[in-house]
Amino acid sequence: MLKFLGRGSAFTDEHNSAYFVENDELILIDCPMSAFQRLNDKNLALYDHIYVLVTHTHGDHVGGIGMLIDLLQFSVNTPITVVAPSKEVEADLFYLLSRVEGCNSTWFELICVDDLEKEWLVCSIPTSHTEELQGKCFGYCLKVEGNKVIYTGDTNTIVPFEKYLESGAYLYTEISAYKTTVHLYCSDMVQKITEYVSSGIHVYLMHMDDEKRIAQVMKDTGAEFAPIDQSTSTLEDSGRMLKGIFEISDSLYKDMCMNNSSDHNLLFSYLTELGKTIVDADRASFWKWDKRKGQIWTMSATGVDRIVIPDNSGLVGKALRTKKPVITNDPYSDPDFNKEIDIKTGYRTKSVLVLPVADINGNFIGALQLINKNDGSGFDDESDPKKLSLAALVCGIALESETFLEESHHDRLTGLKNRMGFYYDFGGKFKDYLIPGSGKTMSLFISDIDKFKRVNDTYGHNAGDDVLRFTADLLEASCGEKDSVYRWGGEEFVMVMRDSDIEGAVKKAEEIRIKLMDSEIEADGNTIRCTMSFGCNSFDPARTIEDNVSAADEKLYTAKETGRNKVCC
Ligand code: GH3
Ligand code: MG
Ligand code: MG
Repeated sequence: MLKFLGRGSAFTDEHNSAYFVENDELILIDCPMSAFQRLNDKNLALYDHIYVLVTHTHGDHVGGIGMLIDLLQFSVNTPITVVAPSKEVEADLFYLLSRVEGCNSTWFELICVDDLEKEWLVCSIPTSHTEELQGKCFGYCLKVEGNKVIYTGDTNTIVPFEKYLESGAYLYTEISAYKTTVHLYCSDMVQKITEYVSSGIHVYLMHMDDEKRIAQVMKDTGAEFAPIDQSTSTLEDSGRMLKGIFEISDSLYKDMCMNNSSDHNLLFSYLTELGKTIVDADRASFWKWDKRKGQIWTMSATGVDRIVIPDNSGLVGKALRTKKPVITNDPYSDPDFNKEIDIKTGYRTKSVLVLPVADINGNFIGALQLINKNDGSGFDDESDPKKLSLAALVCGIALESETFLEESHHDRLTGLKNRMGFYYDFGGKFKDYLIPGSGKTMSLFISDIDKFKRVNDTYGHNAGDDVLRFTADLLEASCGEKDSVYRWGGEEFVMVMRDSDIEGAVKKAEEIRIKLMDSEIEADGNTIRCTMSFGCNSFDPARTIEDNVSAADEKLYTAKETGRNKVCC
C-alpha cells in the first residue's frame, strides 16, 4: 500500500509525503522539500516515469517539486508529470513552477487529473482546508495493488471522503493534536475512526503534528500510524540505532575478547540482538541448518526456547531452499509460514524477514530471522535486507567457525568426541576439577576392544567399523549426565566421570564390560561377539592430564596382560 517518506505536518522535520510504485512508475503524493531530499537517496533512475499528485499548493506541499524537476532534468533524466487535482490548481501550478521555481515548461508535463488515464487513478476529491485556498484543496481516490485507497490530503472535514469508504478500503487521513479550523482534531475523530475500523476499513493516520498526543488519543480506535519507509528514516532514528549497535558490539567485544569467554551461545545471542536492533524488530532468531539430520534449529532466539523443525518447513526453510531472502508482511497468507509456534505461544507474527547465510564457499548453512517491525510498518524489501547484511554475514562466519570447531572435535565414524574434544573439555567443563585442593573428585577409564585386529582380519574392515560404532553407542548410552566419552584412537575409548570416585568408575566399567560381552553385534552381515578391557584411575589434579591418562593406560595394560575382558584399577 502507500509508503511514507514522512508523516509529519509542516511543523515537523518530516513533512507528509506518500508514494507507491506501479509498473515501474513512481507515484508521489505531493513533494515537499524533505521528501525531495529523501528521494534524492533513492535511485530515481530505476523508474520509467514519475508522477506527482498535488493536493493543494501550500509551500510545504509543492516546495520539492521544482527541485525534483531540476534534478530529473539535469542528472537522472526520468520523465516527470505533475498532476493537478483541478483546472484551477493546474493554472496555479503552472505559475508556481515556471515563475517561482524557475523550471522550464519543457522539463515537465503538467496535466489535470481529468485528462490523465491511469489505472491507479480514480479521481480527485474536493475538500476544504484554509479559507484562502477555498475550492483548491483536494484529496484522492486511488487504486493501489488492486485496493481502494482514499487519501485526504490536508482537510478540516472527513465528509467529502465518506462516500468512497467501504469495507476493505484503505483510508489515509490527516489528523491533528490541536483544535483548529484547518485540520481534523484527533479527539473529534475518535468515534468515527473507531466505526470505520470496525466496519473493515484500514485507517492510517498521517500529517501529524504531535505523534505522542495523537497516539494517546487514538490508542483504542484500531487506526495505525502511516508506515514510514525505513530506507529514509530520520537522523534522530539513525543516531539512536547507531548507539544501540555500538553498545552491542562493545559488549560483544568485551565478553568475547576481554573476559575470554568461549561460549558460542553468547556470540550468537549478541549477533541476533544486533540484527534486531538494526532493523528495529521485536524478535530475532538465528538458525543453524543441520543438513545431515535434515533439521533447522535455533542457535539463539529472543522470546522463545530452542526450536527444532524439519528443514523443509517454515519461512526459514523456504529461505534456505530458495537461497533467497524471504520477506512477508502478511505471513498468514504464505503457505510456508508455520502458524504452530504462534498458536502455542500466543504471539502474533505480523511481518517476517529471513536472510539465509552462507559459509565461505557460498553454501547456505543457516539463516537470520527477524519478526515484527516495532513501528508496525512491516519490512522493506530493499532497505531492511541491506541494513541486516553485515550482521548476517558475521553470523555466517561465526556459524561456520563454530561448525568447523564442532566437527574437528568429533569423530566421523562413531560420532563421539575425539581427542581434540577431550582437551577442549578440559579447558571448559572439567576446568574446576583441575584445581588441586578444590575438593572435587573425578575419575576416568580407558578401554580397548580385545583382539579387534582379528575382527578386521576375519570379517573385513566394514564389519570392524560396525563393531566400533556399536561399542561407541553402548558407551554413550551408559553415560550419565556428568560423564563424557571420547574415542581416544583406533579401538580405544576414554570416559571421564565428574563427581565420581574410583569405585564409581570401576562399577560403570564393569557394567559396560558385561553389556558388551553379552551383545550380539550385527556387523556387515555377520553376528559378532566382542569383549573389552578397562583401566580405571581416579583423577589427580596435581598431575598433568597426560599423566592421569597414562596411569589408567597402565591398568589397561595389566588387564590385557592378565587375560583381557576385565576391569583393572
Ligand atoms: P588387543 O586385545 O591387544 O587390544 O588386540 P587388538 O587386535 O585389539 O590390538 P591391535 O592394536 O593389534 O589392533 C587394533 C586394530 O584396530 C588394528 C587396526 O587396523 C584396527 N583399527 C583401528 N582403527 C580402526 C577403524 O577405524 N576401523 C577399523 N575397522 N579398524 C580399525
Ligand atoms: Mg589398541
Ligand atoms: Mg585392542
